[in-house]
Amino acid sequence: MSLNRAVTRATVTGGILIAAGVFVLAQQPAAPPAAPPPRDPHANEVPPPKNPPRVVMAGATVGAPPADAIVVFDGTDLSKREKEKGGGPAEWTVADGAMVVKPKTGGIRTKQGFGDVQLHIEWAAPSPARGSGQDRGNSGVFFQSTYEVQVLDSFENATYWHGSAASVYKQYAPLVNVSRKPGEWQVYDIVYHAPAFNEDGRVTKRATFTVFHNGVLVQDHVEVMGVTTNEGPPYYKAHADKLPLSLQDHDHTVQYRNIWVREL
Ligand code: MG
Repeated sequence: MSLNRAVTRATVTGGILIAAGVFVLAQQPAAPPAAPPPRDPHANEVPPPKNPPRVVMAGATVGAPPADAIVVFDGTDLSKREKEKGGGPAEWTVADGAMVVKPKTGGIRTKQGFGDVQLHIEWAAPSPARGSGQDRGNSGVFFQSTYEVQVLDSFENATYWHGSAASVYKQYAPLVNVSRKPGEWQVYDIVYHAPAFNEDGRVTKRATFTVFHNGVLVQDHVEVMGVTTNEGPPYYKAHADKLPLSLQDHDHTVQYRNIWVREL
């Protein structure tokens, strides 16, 4: 083989090898794009509170007071209550684990004052039912002795809607009527936030109610317009941060049992 032919063959062979290499390289996948910087999945999260939730022993049964509740009526006596007008021993009747309104003796109130609370209270309207409208199984739970969640026998008993059972009296009708028959035990679970007043006595934050009646939401964080008065428009009048919880004597033998509060 001449030198020229050998060089030519080597050149051709080299060219083929280079072409093959380029072909092989061309067949390889493109290099992946540069990885994004590592992302912190917890960036911008709301940080957890510094302390864990306090442990509270739940009640033994649904509706029973949890360990941090203040039991204001356990079915045995009225020692934690007094007459609403003028104080003195409450005169309502206690029997079979319940207290019963004693008509004409007046409303009763807790000796202890409360502000923001969660309240559990069970009640039953008289049976057989007598009267109609507001004159049937009427009582009421007054927060801070001022703002009433109505207690009324509203089972097949028409009245103005914002005066029926679980209304914020004359301000908000319940979202639905889940009243049980007279004589049957009913339950209110209520979250109440007290109003706030400035130094001039003007309201700066209205009271609010959230109410469950027999487990059903009937007041959804409503803003109380003021005193739940029977006549005239509601109004606010400055009062202490903590005031008693009162129950109304409206001349009807409404029963109450298992009353407890949790201060919020
Ligand atoms: Mg009432």
